[in-house]
Amino acid sequence: MLHVLAGGEADLLVLLFPQLAGLVLESVGDCGDGVRITARTGTASLACRGCGTVTARVHERYWRCPADLGCGGRPVRLDLEVRRFRCAVPGCPVKTFAGQVPGLTAWYQRQSVQLRGLLEKVALALAGRAGSRLAAALGADVSRLTLIRLIRALPDPVHGPVTVLGVDDIAKRKGHSYATVLMDMDTHELIDMLPDREAGTFADWLRAHPGTEVICRDRGGPYAAAAREAAPAAVQVADRFHLWQNLAGAVEKTVVAVLAELNPPPGPQDPQPSPEPAAPAPVPGPPAEPDGFRDASGRPRRVVARHRERYAQVQALRAQGCTITEIAARLQLSPRTTARFARAGSIGELLVKATSRASILDQFKPCLGQRWNDGIHAAAVLHQEIRGQGWTGSLLTVERYLRQFRTADGRDRAARAQPQHTAPDTPRSRPRQVTRQIMTRPDHLDPAGAADLASLLQASPRLAAAAAHVRSFAAIMTSRQGLLYLEDWLTQLETDDQPQLHSFARGIRRDQDAVTAGLALPYSSGPLEGRNCKTKHIKRLMYGRANFDLLRKMALLN
Ligand SMILES: [Zn+2]
Repeated sequence: MLHVLAGGEADLLVLLFPQLAGLVLESVGDCGDGVRITARTGTASLACRGCGTVTARVHERYWRCPADLGCGGRPVRLDLEVRRFRCAVPGCPVKTFAGQVPGLTAWYQRQSVQLRGLLEKVALALAGRAGSRLAAALGADVSRLTLIRLIRALPDPVHGPVTVLGVDDIAKRKGHSYATVLMDMDTHELIDMLPDREAGTFADWLRAHPGTEVICRDRGGPYAAAAREAAPAAVQVADRFHLWQNLAGAVEKTVVAVLAELNPPPGPQDPQPSPEPAAPAPVPGPPAEPDGFRDASGRPRRVVARHRERYAQVQALRAQGCTITEIAARLQLSPRTTARFARAGSIGELLVKATSRASILDQFKPCLGQRWNDGIHAAAVLHQEIRGQGWTGSLLTVERYLRQFRTADGRDRAARAQPQHTAPDTPRSRPRQVTRQIMTRPDHLDPAGAADLASLLQASPRLAAAAAHVRSFAAIMTSRQGLLYLEDWLTQLETDDQPQLHSFARGIRRDQDAVTAGLALPYSSGPLEGRNCKTKHIKRLMYGRANFDLLRKMALLN
C-alpha cells in the first residue's frame, strides 16, 4: 500500500510535514490504522558525543518508528532509517553512537518532538482521561497514564530570587489536609507549592530561597512564625483580604447578638397565633410569613425545639462543672457543637444563627406563587416546571412549601405574591444580609438596602457604633493610612462596648506590626486568592484525586 515518492512529491509532503525537511523521504501510504511515512537520514558523518571527533564510519543501520503529529485526524507513524556510527579514537569511552534528527527526534522518545509538545499541552490543560480523549480526536493514541507521566517529567519553571512573596494555604481535601501556595507578588507567578501548611516546611523553603524582603501572608500563626524564624529581616504584611474577612465575621456576630436583643424569640409556652375560634371568619386569610422560628403553618420549627433542649442540657451540665468533652460524650454531640452551645450568651443568639440560613427554594418561590394563583396546585406538576428552570431539589421540599397554601378543610388559599428579590429579603437570611449591608460601601448600597440598614441602625445604637467602626476601618484600609490611624482606631474600639469586635481587636493586637504594614503597603493577596481559584479548578478537573506532586506540577506549569 506504500506509494514510492517521485521527484516533486517529496517537496509536496514537506509542505504538509515541515518537520521532515532535511530527511530523504522515500514513500508514504495507508497502513490500515493510520498514515506511514518512510524516510532515512541523509547524514554521512557525525561528531562523536564522547570526544567530538567527526567520523564517517557507519556501524549499522536500523529503524526508529516515532509517532508524529496526526494528519486529518489520523495517526501518523514515521519509519525512519538511522545510522549508528563507530568512533575510531583510541581510549574514547563511546564506542558507537546514533544521531538524532534535530527538531524531530530525541533520546529515548517514541514520539516526535512536535507530537510530544502537543501532548504536553493537552495533558496540562485536561490531565488524564479527558486529555486522552482529546488526543485521540487529534490523531494521537495515548493512554491517560502516558499523559500523566508526561506532566510529571516536565521540569519545574525556573525563577530568580523573589523580593515580595505571597503565601497562603489551599485545601487538598477540605477540612482534612492543606498545602501551601507561594507566589511572586511582583510578577503574579506561582513559585512553588509545599505539601502541607506547617511552619517548619515553609521555614525550610525560606532558608533555601534567601532574598525575600516582604512576605504577604494570611493571619494564620504558622506562616508568621516561620517568617520570623527563617527570614527575620523580611517585613511581614497581613493581607487585607483576610483582615476584611475576619472583620466581617466579627460584625456578623454583633448583628446576630443585636437581632436577638431586638426580636426575642417566642417562648416555648407562648400561645400560637391561632384564629379566634369565636370570630366569624369563614374565609381564611393569607398564611403568616414564616419568621424563621415558626414554619409556614405557624408551628414552632423542629430545629428551634431541638436547640432549646440542647442549650438547656449543655448549660445545666456546665453549671454542674462538667468539661466540654464530658458533656459531648454524655449528650452524644461533637465537641465543636457542644462548645458552641456552652459559649453562647443566650439561646436567642443560637436561634438567630440556626434559623438564618436561606432556603435553596427561595429563588423559585415567586414562580411557584404565580403558578399557584394561576390555578395549578399539583405539587408534582409545579416540581416538574421549576426543574425546567434549574431546581435540583426534591419533590418533598416543594410539597412542604405548598402546604402553607392548603388549609385544613381542603380549600386552597391564594399564594401571597412574593417580591422578585426574595432570597436576600427572607427573614431567614437576615444576619447575613445586614452584615453585607454594613460591609458594603454606603454609596454602593441600593436605596432600599440603605433605608433598611438606616432604620435598623436607628433602632440599635450598638450596631450603629459597630457600623461606624467598620467605616473608619475601611477608610484606613483604602487610603493605606494604617501607620497613622490604626492605633487610634484600636484604642477607640477597645473603649467602646462591642464584645464581638473586641476579639477582632485582640487578634490585631497580637499581630499589630504586620496588620499596620498591610494597611500601609500596596501589596494585596488578591492575585494569590485568584490563583487559588484556578488551582481548585485544576484539582476538580482531576476529580479531586490527584496526588500532590501531580497537582503541584499542573498548578505551577499552567
Ligand atoms: Zn569518540
